[in-house]
Amino acid sequence: MNTIYQRIFEYTPDALLVVDPTGRITLANAQAETLFGYDRSELIGQPVEILVPPRFVTHHARHRAGFNAEAHSRPMGAAVELSALRKDGFEFPVDIMLSPMFMKGHPLTLCVVRDISERKAAADKLRQQAEELQKLHVALKEQASRDSLTGLLNRRGFHELASQMLRTAHRRQESTALLMIDLDHFKQVNDRRGHLEGDHVLKMVAETLKATARENDIVARHGGEEFIMAILGDDEAESLVAAERVRTAIAAIPNTQSRITASIGVATFKPELQKREVSQILEEMFGQADRALYAAKKNGRNQVCHFSALKTKAP
Ligand code: GH3
Ligand code: MG
Ligand code: MG
Repeated sequence: MNTIYQRIFEYTPDALLVVDPTGRITLANAQAETLFGYDRSELIGQPVEILVPPRFVTHHARHRAGFNAEAHSRPMGAAVELSALRKDGFEFPVDIMLSPMFMKGHPLTLCVVRDISERKAAADKLRQQAEELQKLHVALKEQASRDSLTGLLNRRGFHELASQMLRTAHRRQESTALLMIDLDHFKQVNDRRGHLEGDHVLKMVAETLKATARENDIVARHGGEEFIMAILGDDEAESLVAAERVRTAIAAIPNTQSRITASIGVATFKPELQKREVSQILEEMFGQADRALYAAKKNGRNQVCHFSALKTKAP
C-alpha cells in the first residue's frame, strides 16, 4: 500500500485532507501543510473546523453532518464562495471537492482544497473593469445627447426621446405637439452686447423652458438660438396654450440687458395619423412646425403660429 499511492497523496498539487465522521482530520498532505500553515502533527486529530473562519464554523459543522448522512462526490458549497483560515488568521478563497471513501470498513471523507485567490482576484478585476466601462459608456452616451452650453438635450438626444414619445402616443392613441421656438433678432444681442451676453441669454432661455415645461415634456436646444419642445397628449388648442405660455415666459425673463422675445411654430399630430414610421412622422412634424415658425416671424415675431392656420389661409 506504501509507495506509489502514498506518493500520489503526498505530492498532489492540491491540499488533501482525510476527515473522519466526527469531523477530525486523520490525514493531510504536504500541500495542506503549506496552504494552511500548520505542521502535519498540528492538523492530525484536530476538528477540520480549525481551518474554517469562525463565522462559518457552526454552519460548516451542520453541513458536514448532512454530507455524512448522504455522502457522494460533490463540490462543497457549489453556489457560495468558500473561505478557508490559515494558522496565522489569514483568510483566503478556496474551491473544495468532497469525496466519500472507506478504509477497512470505516467511512471517511477525502477533501480536495484548492486556493483560488489568484483566479478570484483576476475575476474581480475583470468585473470591476466591466463596471467602469459600463459607467463610462453611460456617461459618454449622456454627454453625446446633451448640449454643453445649456445642459438641455441636443438634437440627437431629442430625436431619441421624441421617438419614444411618439410610440407612446401611438399606443395610447393620443396627440403629440411639437413647438419650434426661435429667439427674435438674436444676432443683434450678440452684435450689441457681445457673445458672452448672448450665451448668458441662451442659458436663461433654457432655464425658462425647463421651468415652464411639465414633467413629461421634452425640451432641447435644436441648435443656435433655436429650441424645441415635444408635448405628449396636447391637441391643437392645448398645444397653442402651451406655446403661448412659453412665449410669455421668455418675454418675461429678467436679468438680460435687452428684452428677449421668441417666435414659436407649432405642429400637432393626431392619433389617427400615427400609423407611419416614427422617423417619418418626426420629419413631417419638424417641417410643419418650421413653416409655422416662418409665418410667425413674417407676421411680426414675438408670437405663436400653428401649422393648421397656414393651411386654412392657403387658396
Ligand atoms: P430672427 O428673428 O429672424 O430669428 O433673427 P436672428 O437674429 O435671431 O436670426 P439669425 O439666424 O440671423 O441669427 C442667429 C444668431 O444666433 C446668429 C448667431 O451668431 C447666434 N448664435 C447661434 N449660436 C450661438 C451661441 O451658441 N452663442 C451665441 N452667443 N450666439 C449664438
Ligand atoms: Mg432667431
Ligand atoms: Mg434661427
